[in-house]
Amino acid sequence: MAKVAWIGLGVMGYPMAGHLLAKGAHELAVYNRTRAKAEAWVTAHGTGTHHATPADAAKNADFVFACVGNDDDLRQVTLGPDGAFSAMRRGAIFIDHTTASADVARELSAAAAERGLGFIDAPVSGGQAGAEAGQLTVMCGGDPTVYRDAEPLILTFAKAARLMGPAGSGQLTKMVNQIAIAGLVQGLSEAIAFAENAGLDVPAVIDTISKGAAQSWQMVNRWETMHARRFDFGFAVDWMRKDLGICLAEARRNGSALPIATTVDGLYAEVQDNGGGRWDTSSLITLLPSPAIQGAKRDPHAK
Ligand code: NAP
Repeated sequence: MAKVAWIGLGVMGYPMAGHLLAKGAHELAVYNRTRAKAEAWVTAHGTGTHHATPADAAKNADFVFACVGNDDDLRQVTLGPDGAFSAMRRGAIFIDHTTASADVARELSAAAAERGLGFIDAPVSGGQAGAEAGQLTVMCGGDPTVYRDAEPLILTFAKAARLMGPAGSGQLTKMVNQIAIAGLVQGLSEAIAFAENAGLDVPAVIDTISKGAAQSWQMVNRWETMHARRFDFGFAVDWMRKDLGICLAEARRNGSALPIATTVDGLYAEVQDNGGGRWDTSSLITLLPSPAIQGAKRDPHAK
């Protein structure tokens, strides 16, 4: 039975840590910046301990998992004054599920190696629903022997996990994922708004075309709520802008052109300006003219 610490019990981290406990039967020490969430997690699971700092949670652990917001948050919980790295014992492994830059992954991997620690960057795809169902996809970067030790624990909340290459490769793979999704959601938004404005029976249209070449995860899982202009389904526009910012910076460095991702990033900025930072990413459709449904239900928070 491994000793495990978990840092960051947000929308994703809370259920992921729960699966790790339930399926791995590990001893779990948790830390969350807002302490009440860590207390609630321990109460809800009837076991585990909560700690005042990342260092306290991590000090006896064989594996330390994190799922926080961005690069700066990650640096704070690892290298900060009460960060996990200062307390972890040699040979322990840090697994980071935050979506962050490849640069910070390489920086933390090097800092971990200096202290005799293992480090895996391991961003996830699958959203809140995937985290709650324990069905995430995990893209990893790091040393193969370290990954081999971490993989069984990762698979307690994932349907698939794969080592993509050295440190930073997990984050680079997640960037590919976000670049692929960005244009697709805009295309789906345009398609649904066009169908509405053309006076078509939208459910019939989707039922038909989702059996053909236009089918996508976004179409199958989001068309209905997009058509109803409801945007309370997990991955927020604010997070997507953070991710696209990381993708665009990396593209400038590696010589890639991202014309569609750049355009979509600008469109998400408009959604933010309209107050939709916490709406889910399918809210791109709100920017399109839809005379056919003017006056219909348009409250984006309506269930
Ligand atoms: P969230 O609900 O906002 O949770 C973020 C967690 O990080 C919270 O526990 C927060 O603590 C903690 N945190 C943030 N900054 C911190 C700091 N400086 N020091 C210590 N703790 C800090 O976010 P989430 O939806 O779980 O997303 C987490 C990561 O997964 C992000 O990188 C996101 O891009 C990625 N992701 C999210 C989804 C999704 O659908 N939500 C899907 C794939 C990937 P508090 O409780 O105190 O705020």
